[in-house]
Amino acid sequence: MLTTFDPSIALEGRVIGRVFGRGDLAVRALYPTDVTIRRGEVLVIMGPSGSGKTTLLSILGLVLTPTEGEVLVDGRSVSRATADEMAVLRRDRVGFIFQQFNLLPSLSALENAAIPLLLSGLRRAERISRAMHALEIVGMADKRSATPRLLSGGQQQRVAIARALVNDAPVLLCDEPTASLDGATGRGILATLRELAQSGRAVAIVTHDERVLSFADRLVHVIDGRAQADEAHGHARPAETQSDDIGSSQLQETTL
Ligand code: ADP
Ligand code: MG
Repeated sequence: MLTTFDPSIALEGRVIGRVFGRGDLAVRALYPTDVTIRRGEVLVIMGPSGSGKTTLLSILGLVLTPTEGEVLVDGRSVSRATADEMAVLRRDRVGFIFQQFNLLPSLSALENAAIPLLLSGLRRAERISRAMHALEIVGMADKRSATPRLLSGGQQQRVAIARALVNDAPVLLCDEPTASLDGATGRGILATLRELAQSGRAVAIVTHDERVLSFADRLVHVIDGRAQADEAHGHARPAETQSDDIGSSQLQETTL
């Protein structure tokens, strides 16, 4: 279905909600809500552990089917997409970044970044060239031969960002991307995500850490499954004009 199309909106959830289980065992993880993810913007989805953030991000990332509402990609509903069409949309439209970087320990940084291209049909030389480019964007080209255990947490997360970028997906969805990192390292990762938004991508960051707020253009609070946009946060200042320091203690704390 084609609807009125705003090209700045990369992903949109319309009255998306989710219940897990049935009957007496049913758990309402997310009450129906509208969320838009726009190009050129960092959307921060903030809330305590268990509030429904990952559920919301997973629905928007097309890895979890909502029990209510629909997701639109570039203005087009995916409700009727086949499993194959959904797989292509996930591959081409969305890059995921997680708290745990999930790099394959036996592969180099370059090979890890190239993983999403393995089923692309591209020739090896092209896969390597694209993975190198992604590593360059995150400042990790000089570490291309290193395996994950030779890299710091922040460097591993940069490789994970490169892996999410390698398909040139317009949307980056990040679930607690700094929760395993110390403060300064987490701030560096957030600055990189912000630059990626400024280069035209759409970035959504799920977090329970309020210090991520200084990197937000827009903010959605999720509490007990209820998402609410923070209108006051509609036009955040650029991160570089802000002085909030992300200290090490809270960013080292992990959730779930
Ligand atoms: P957050 O990411 O904010 O910590 P989640 O979205 O993971 O929260 O979870 C929201 C609620 O939904 C929690 O009560 C959680 O236990 C429940 N939930 C999440 N995933 C499942 C699932 N697969 N089956 C049953 N309940 C789930
Ligand atoms: Mg979560």
